[in-house]
Amino acid sequence: MNVFAHAEFDAHEQVCFCHDQASGLRAIIAIHNTALGPALGGVRMWPYADEAAALADVLRLSRGMTYKSALAGLQLGGGKSVIIGDPARDKSRALMIAMGEAVNGLGGRYIAAEDSGTTVEDLKAMRDVTRHVAGIADKPTAQGGMRTGDPSPATAYGVYAGIRAAVAFRLQRDELDGVRVAVQGVGSVGFKLAKRLAAQGARLWLTDIDTDRARLACGEVNAKLVTPEEIFALDVDVFAPCAMGAVINDDTAATLRARIVAGAANNQLAQPRHADALAERGILYAPDYVINAGGVIDVALELESFDVDAVNERVAGIGATLTEIFERAEREGRNTSEVADRLAREKLQGKRDMRESAR
Ligand code: NAD
Repeated sequence: MNVFAHAEFDAHEQVCFCHDQASGLRAIIAIHNTALGPALGGVRMWPYADEAAALADVLRLSRGMTYKSALAGLQLGGGKSVIIGDPARDKSRALMIAMGEAVNGLGGRYIAAEDSGTTVEDLKAMRDVTRHVAGIADKPTAQGGMRTGDPSPATAYGVYAGIRAAVAFRLQRDELDGVRVAVQGVGSVGFKLAKRLAAQGARLWLTDIDTDRARLACGEVNAKLVTPEEIFALDVDVFAPCAMGAVINDDTAATLRARIVAGAANNQLAQPRHADALAERGILYAPDYVINAGGVIDVALELESFDVDAVNERVAGIGATLTEIFERAEREGRNTSEVADRLAREKLQGKRDMRESAR
């Protein structure tokens, strides 16, 4: 198995293969880039078909975290880790402790957080052997509430701020009153987003493969229920994907009627070329890793102190970052996805130049 010549290898600083005989741990930790700070990223546990699939995933995801944190204005780099195994069958406290020890061995260059297949409880087990864990704090907030570690409220707030920025740019409207939004997936993020949009007078269409959940959500925010198939073809202003990836593909890019695509889902574009396909049809795309960075901002600020207002203020900045991307895309005649990547690389390069001149 090749690492340095791997298709997903992108000058990663460090890739560690971690093993523990007693607990059965087989994991890979990838540190993509620490130019801006220690590499923060989730611990994913998944029954990968083989080690090659796990390596491809961790290389790709860690790179994505570098870009996300850079554009979120965080002093953090990008990393990710994957544990090979079925979380329902193979997970144990001993396994998570062994993972914690592996993370600890990196001396803080990688900071672990929750991801698919791991829970706050798992991260707390890791915390028993390493302090390089984030997103688990059970601590009082400055506002008198309790911090639980759930990033979805901050993610939803960021997507809301991003939709406002996109509506202002594309529709020249400062208010959401009467703006028509289709939300795909009303889980942790989608439902909170729908509530925020409804509170501002947006008209909503919701769908979820869990029909009961969708029906309940519609009742609560006075939205119209549609099927998962119907959501793509609605005559709306905004399509907000908040379910799964690859929703912008050859089919949908050619048929969507929305003028804006802005939602929480990761990896919304099936292929990079689908950003061009949207742009050619005049559909404004809010790059996913920019608009859904509220969660990582929330986790990152927990490393400093915990103040909900401070988090919200930082998360609201996602709107300004998106506006910068939209304006530059228009000016340069590029798609928004390409511009976001360029902007992130410029931030990293600036820091790298400073470092190199200090050497
Ligand atoms: P979730 O699992 O709580 O909700 C997803 C919802 O989508 C579920 O209700 C599910 O039934 C529904 N769904 C799945 N497939 C569907 C389909 N084909 N059509 C309609 N509905 C479908 O997840 P979440 O935490 O709300 O995250 C939503 C998306 O946002 C994911 O892609 C996630 O990776 C991304 N994201 C989440 C966060 C966060 O803070 N939770 C942060 C960044 C990105």
